[in-house]
Amino acid sequence: MDAPNDNQRCDFCEKKAIGMQILGCVSQNVCEDHAEQMLVAMKPGERKDWGACYYVRYGKDTDSGEQDSDR
Ligand SMILES: [Zn+2]
Repeated sequence: MDAPNDNQRCDFCEKKAIGMQILGCVSQNVCEDHAEQMLVAMKPGERKDWGACYYVRYGKDTDSGEQDSDR
């Protein structure tokens, strides 16, 4: 019951977060400006396990309709 909603805000600024990065025990919501390159390069909805880090790209990056309809 903790599905990320699509109105997350960046922890560093007021912009809309594009994803979440978990660095060890710290999780951060980040916008495109503050996200790691790894996260920016990921597709919406993608998740990546990267050693001690874990990246989650939020699926609803845009409401303009360009998204995979399955899943
Ligand atoms: Zn930011």
